[in-house]
Amino acid sequence: RFGIGAWLSRRRLKSPDKTALIFGDQSAITYGQLADDADRISVLLGQHGIGKGDAVAYLGENSPEFLQVMFGVAQLGAVFVPVNTRLAPPEIAHVLADCGARVLIHDAEFTQRVTAALPGTRTSHVIVTGEGVPGAPGLTRLRRTATAQPPIVDVTHQDPAAIIYTSGTTGRAKGAVLTHGNLTWVALNCVVDYDVVSTDVALMISPLFHVASLGMGALPVILKGATIVLEKGFEPGRALEQIQRHGVTMLSGVPTTYQLMADHPDWASTDLSTLAKLTCGGSAVPLRILNAYEERGLSFSQGYGMTEASPGVTALAPAMTRAKQGSVGLPHFFADVRIADENGVPVPAGTIGEIEIAGPNVFPGYHGLPEETAAAFTADGWFRSGDLGYLDDEGYLYISGRIKDMIISGGENIYPPELEHLIGEIDGVSGAAVIGVPDARWGEVPWAIVTVREGAAVDTETVREYLDGRIARYKLPKNVIIVDELPRTASGKVRKADLRARFGA
Ligand code: ATP
Ligand code: MG
Repeated sequence: RFGIGAWLSRRRLKSPDKTALIFGDQSAITYGQLADDADRISVLLGQHGIGKGDAVAYLGENSPEFLQVMFGVAQLGAVFVPVNTRLAPPEIAHVLADCGARVLIHDAEFTQRVTAALPGTRTSHVIVTGEGVPGAPGLTRLRRTATAQPPIVDVTHQDPAAIIYTSGTTGRAKGAVLTHGNLTWVALNCVVDYDVVSTDVALMISPLFHVASLGMGALPVILKGATIVLEKGFEPGRALEQIQRHGVTMLSGVPTTYQLMADHPDWASTDLSTLAKLTCGGSAVPLRILNAYEERGLSFSQGYGMTEASPGVTALAPAMTRAKQGSVGLPHFFADVRIADENGVPVPAGTIGEIEIAGPNVFPGYHGLPEETAAAFTADGWFRSGDLGYLDDEGYLYISGRIKDMIISGGENIYPPELEHLIGEIDGVSGAAVIGVPDARWGEVPWAIVTVREGAAVDTETVREYLDGRIARYKLPKNVIIVDELPRTASGKVRKADLRARFGA
């Protein structure tokens, strides 16, 4: 039994009384208790007919039940399908129908959306977390009535553990099948590269339905028997309070999380001296955030990854932040990266091409999509990320953006992130997305779609003036459009296809 489902029972043997979880203001949960609860959930799900290979969907905010269910599912050799809580009913319906889950467990607050999403899916058993709703006992009560003797199921590293849907930034969300091996290796990569130790206290403010918090946040901490301070959601003031109260040593998030904490009125007065390991990924970290943390003696490990790689691929060690500014670092210990041209031929250092990834953390394929799966791998088995980037001569990776977003203007390539990064430095700018707009003379020209802070005066001229001299002239946006809001996916990424549809004509 080498699946991740075995981890809690191993922890129960090795460190039963160690605190596994601190949730909200509830009392601490030990590894022994967490393992017992996961066992009961396995038994309960077994009673609902769930066995090896069956999908179980979960739609909920962070809570101990989230982890109990994930491990309960894993122990059965069943497949855990976490659903992003920000999805609209048609998107939830797509996930449920696509993964074929017969059982869905969800928080009571999502009842309406679930009811709207269920028609047309095979989901026949719906269980509400906590105390449940009138007429339907909740997971807490059902769990109490179950025995703690789960069946013993053989699970190998090749068996699927989860189906996690991609963000849907470039099209419809695809279900990435992640195996027990994928999740094990990504957790090991974090233990090795972020020095996770059993005395760590990790504050978990990002939603567990994201593969980053699950695979790189919760799993490595549990593997080492360290402690998770779990928050239902993210509130910057509360996060600062928890760091000080529990002596938090580890924190992971996306750039926005870090920014909101640094902008909070309690930032200056909070004791952050215990924080030793900060990780940040998903998109590039703006310089002003790096500076705010460095002033407090804190630096991040920035990372690059994607759902299909469970998700961590590279990490930049904090000590290298300045020397390798703009880089997302080196491949994780058990992962590899190479760059190929449009014909799939490896390119030398310094040359931009498609980022290809190999390693035990790379998924076997998309659920039910054999053609997309085949297209996503090279003949020799490397995953084609769809991202562009280059390696420097020491092997550090730099991201240049997505292939689908690259702009070709008068035969020159323009990489939107380079411009977005610079525009983001302009006073008053709060967000920027650069897209290619068809142009009779140049083929395509860059336009910048920008959001500004209240009262800021930013226009095409301000932006062009700032950029002039910092980048080649052909890259200067021909037009700058100020909008109230950029269209974003549930995980906060800009939907450029929407912007192109709106402004590209
Ligand atoms: P979809 O595949 O459905 O279009 P998605 O690619 O946004 O959506 P995710 O797997 O959540 O879904 O995101 C992975 C992508 O996020 C990467 O392929 C890359 O484009 C981007 N990304 C991740 N980390 C970074 C980073 N540090 N800097 C820049 N971009 C990043
Ligand atoms: Mg993707």
